[in-house]
Amino acid sequence: MSQRNPSVPLSKNPKLLSWVEKMVALCEPANVHWVDGSQQENDTLCAALVKAGTFIKLNEKLWPGCYYARSDAGDVARVEERTFICSKSKDDAGPTNNWEDPATMRARLNGLFKGCMKGRTMYVLPYSMGPIGSPIAQIGVELTDSAYVVVNMRIMARIGAAVIKEIDKDEKPFVPCMHTVGAPLAPGQKDVIWPCNKEKYIVHFPETREIWSFGSGYGGNALLGKKCFALRIASNMARDEGWMAEHMLILGVESPKGDRTYVSAAFPSACGKTNFAMLIPPPALLEKGWKVWTVGDDIAWIKPDANGVLRAINPEAGFFGVAPGTSVKTNPNAMASLAKNTIFTNVALTPEGGVWWEGMTDTPPAECIDWQGNKWTPEIGKTGVKAAHANSRFTAPASQCPTIDPAWEDPAGVPISAFIFGGRRPDTMPLVYQAKSWEQGVYIAATMGSEMTAAAAGKVGQVRRDPMAMLPFCGYHVGDYFQHWLNMAKKAKKMPAVFHVNWFRKDAAGKFMWPGFGENARVLKWIVGRAIGCDCAKAVETKIGYQPSYDDLDWSGADFSKAAFDELQAVDTTKWKAEVEDQASFFEKVGAKLPAALKAEREALKSRLG
Ligand code: GDP
Ligand code: PGA
Ligand code: MN
Ligand code: MN
Repeated sequence: MSQRNPSVPLSKNPKLLSWVEKMVALCEPANVHWVDGSQQENDTLCAALVKAGTFIKLNEKLWPGCYYARSDAGDVARVEERTFICSKSKDDAGPTNNWEDPATMRARLNGLFKGCMKGRTMYVLPYSMGPIGSPIAQIGVELTDSAYVVVNMRIMARIGAAVIKEIDKDEKPFVPCMHTVGAPLAPGQKDVIWPCNKEKYIVHFPETREIWSFGSGYGGNALLGKKCFALRIASNMARDEGWMAEHMLILGVESPKGDRTYVSAAFPSACGKTNFAMLIPPPALLEKGWKVWTVGDDIAWIKPDANGVLRAINPEAGFFGVAPGTSVKTNPNAMASLAKNTIFTNVALTPEGGVWWEGMTDTPPAECIDWQGNKWTPEIGKTGVKAAHANSRFTAPASQCPTIDPAWEDPAGVPISAFIFGGRRPDTMPLVYQAKSWEQGVYIAATMGSEMTAAAAGKVGQVRRDPMAMLPFCGYHVGDYFQHWLNMAKKAKKMPAVFHVNWFRKDAAGKFMWPGFGENARVLKWIVGRAIGCDCAKAVETKIGYQPSYDDLDWSGADFSKAAFDELQAVDTTKWKAEVEDQASFFEKVGAKLPAALKAEREALKSRLG
């Protein structure tokens, strides 16, 4: 193979070429590298990352094609406080987003980006969210000075020469995405293994569809196709064009008859999407012929087709999964997905050149190196020091998932029969209930709450409102977003049935009351039955909606008592009254744009509670 000169532009698109030229003049990189996405290029980049100390190549026999990275201790999660929606009018960003006047922000960014890539290579990274060439796919080009970002994006999205072809063909539009770690190098200055900047900005200009990210190399801050494009920018596109960009997994449930029912579920970050998407039903259900297929684990783009059927696609190509808690017991499909060609960030490194994290095995390794590079032993673990960061992640190709759905790359998407919402709620919320109408479903989704997790920098464990699990990702006014949800009912023939689940209710001793993981299949089976209107899935009407009784769930092979189930499903009126009050303060925050239908739903629930 002849060696390509990577600084020679791969594109002939005049818009792309002039934008790159302008950004080179601004950022002043030492080199420009057009990313073709080939295996050879990937190998070269990974080798360079190993040489720089950013990557450690894992034991090829144990972890073929895998690399290990440790981030800066101050760059381990999304930074919501530093994330901005810079619409022209502050009101368009709404009360849940940070806002700054676009002109002010542009001036600030121009200052920050001036010379920001000195001594580094600027990678021109073309990517497609959704299968290349599909009518629903959207194209972005990320200019980044991080090779770590390039090799992660190669797993998470479709990248490279094939995307350039799309951009050159008919001069297809693309979303320009600027990214820098914000750590220019002076001549001769030695680099650190994880360059980043204390000051961080994750900025979106929704009207001009642009993204500018400064100072972080981590996940959702830096892999700009994911949260920044596929959720914050795409939610704006979706509102304008009549579709939905949601923080949802997509899965298919195969029944013993062989038919498949697809559902989408929105849980906040680190609340169980990846696990639910890859769920393996308990043996007794498997034997009967129940099976779950994975379409996506984080983001869904949902559009009504010509027949008014809501269809969803997964715009991503990989999983950026939470490592802690992932094991052959809890999520064998994730373990198979990450067995090769995977990048691990902020987990622990074992002496054999393997990886480990809390919950991966019952017995920890006798010794390993923790995510900060220090020696770790189970003794040290007993003092509360974690070997892996709570938000440590694996970046793995979706194609390696044993249960990946045959239709996962179908440009037409899969038909969605149910929407499921849920978060981490230690009390109040039962295991499962169903909304009685679309409006009530939107209300339940709009008021959902969850404990904050390590997926975002800040307080962990405090319950906050996280509407549709989109609080950090909705790129416009949350009141308009709720109205858009309500409006979707006019665009589709039939809206999906809506459910709320809670795998995380705790007893008085602070223990989870529900075993979760594979056992969630029992709840899912009932949900699917309800969604398709099967006589087999019964429910009783309660103050909050429809709830299954013990006998309405399939308990084959389980030893979960009726008493335990009743406790898990109990609706404590005192707690629910407090819940409805807390929702009121959130509704106040939403302000004048709160749809009347949601206010009415809240008042109706309040009066039902008495
Ligand atoms: P995501 O970030 O929404 O994709 O969430 P993950 O599926 O990665 O799960 C986040 C964390 O929650 C991991 O530590 C999981 O082990 C844990 N988790 C996922 N599902 C369940 C469940 O059903 N029950 C319990 N107790 N924990 C779960
Ligand atoms: P998650 O995705 O939802 O799988 O945690 C990453 C994130 O939201 O930060
Ligand atoms: Mn997510
Ligand atoms: Mn996930």
